[in-house]
Formats: sequence, C-alpha cells, structure tokens
Amino acid sequence: MYSDYHVHSSFSFDSEETLDNIIKKAVSLNMKQIAITDHQDFNWPVKGESPYIDFNRYFDTLNHYADKYKNKIQILKGVELGITMDNVQLCRKLLHNVNFDFVIGSCHVVDNMDPYYYSFWESHTDREAFELYFSTLLDALHSFNSVDTLGHLDYIVRYSPNKDANYCVFDYMDVIDEILKFIITHYIKLEINTAGLAKGLDFPNPHTDIIKRYTELGGKYVTIGSDAHKACDIGFGFNKIEDIANRYNLKIYEK
Ligand SMILES: [Zn+2]
Ligand SMILES: [Zn+2]
Repeated sequence: MYSDYHVHSSFSFDSEETLDNIIKKAVSLNMKQIAITDHQDFNWPVKGESPYIDFNRYFDTLNHYADKYKNKIQILKGVELGITMDNVQLCRKLLHNVNFDFVIGSCHVVDNMDPYYYSFWESHTDREAFELYFSTLLDALHSFNSVDTLGHLDYIVRYSPNKDANYCVFDYMDVIDEILKFIITHYIKLEINTAGLAKGLDFPNPHTDIIKRYTELGGKYVTIGSDAHKACDIGFGFNKIEDIANRYNLKIYEK
C-alpha cells in the first residue's frame, strides 16, 4: 500500500495513539514509509486546547522508533502546521530552527474559530463559511508557503452540520483556482485526505472535482493521508485514492 503521509500520535492534543501501534499497523499494511505529522497550530483560538508539540521530546522519540523499526519501515519526522495570517512569523521561525522531513500546511481556523465546533455554524451559513474558508486559506498561503503539501484543501466541508448537502465546488471555483495555481507555481503538492471518507462523506478532501481541476491547471503531484488519530484508520480508503490518481494521471509522491 502507498505510504500514509498524514498521521497523528499522542504528541497531538487530540490523539492518544502510541507510536508503536501506529508503526506496527503501517508495517502490517506493507507501507514503505509513514509520516508522523502531529499538530502544531500557533496562536490557537480554542480555550483549553494545546496543539503545541514539545519538539525535543518529539524528535527524541521519533528517532528512537526510526531506529527500532529501521529494517521494516522508514519513519518521516513531519508536522501538520496550522497556517493563519497571524502566525506567519512563528511558522517561519519554527522551520528555520527545526528540520522536518515533511511539512503539511493546513488551515484550521476561520474567523478566529475552528469550524470543527458547532458554535462556528451558529453564526455562519454554509455558503459564507465555505467562501470565507477558501479566501482565508489563500491569504494564509500568500504569506507563508514553505510547506511540502497542502492539507485537506476543503477541510471545512467535513464539519458543516448539513454535511456536504450544500457543497457545490463550482460555486467557489474562482478562489479554488487561485489556490491551485498558487501551489502549482510554488511546487507545493496537493494532499488527498481520506478522513472524511472514514466519517461518511462520499468524496475525499479535496473533492474529486477539485482534484480534476488541479490536473487541468497542470498539477501533477499528490500526497495521500488518512489523517488517522487512531492506528486502525491508517491507510483508510487508499485503494479509492489510487483509482482517482490513476484516472487523472497523478503521481502519488513518496520520498
Ligand atoms: Zn488538519
Ligand atoms: Zn491532521
């Protein structure tokens, strides 16, 4: 199976999974590599949550497991970096000081809220929320683009209380086009994230219409990630993604 390039462990505030379980699962799926990409979201707005990594301990632990499993699988020391307009300097400083094997850039904050929470939807319609999300993401990328792949481009859709009922990609294609053109010209790959599939959506993030558009605009490279927070979700839906990648002649990136 293709390598999973988006996995969370107990170094993330929202996962309790052990690295041992994660790596064993990846080995059992015959993955060549696995990228551990725990959450680092500077200036996180949700009280009581701390998506911040203790990087010394993180690297010590990942090095330990990389050595322990060196004959079975390659472990990439990664991060899922939350990018917003107001944390650009901190992101730059982090990447200056820390040498990751793989960096996912993700937008998790809109209007200073995480749309994961229902309270966000009390003050936003789907249409407003999706529009705001895409323009926020584009603005963030314009100020910070030192990432290897763009995480779950339409993340917000997963959390609408209406699920995907009101989501038509073509309503937002102008701004989505700008995002796609930007990543193509800056050599940022497009992540195809399967976590929504695991939660009952019938498309990955981003939607297949966006993946198609990416190829029309000249995009060639994708990374695939389960965004697993539990070992049992690693590699979820990867067969489907392989089919999509083949259909659009995309290359699934592995280091
Ligand atoms: Zn994310
Ligand atoms: Zn994630």
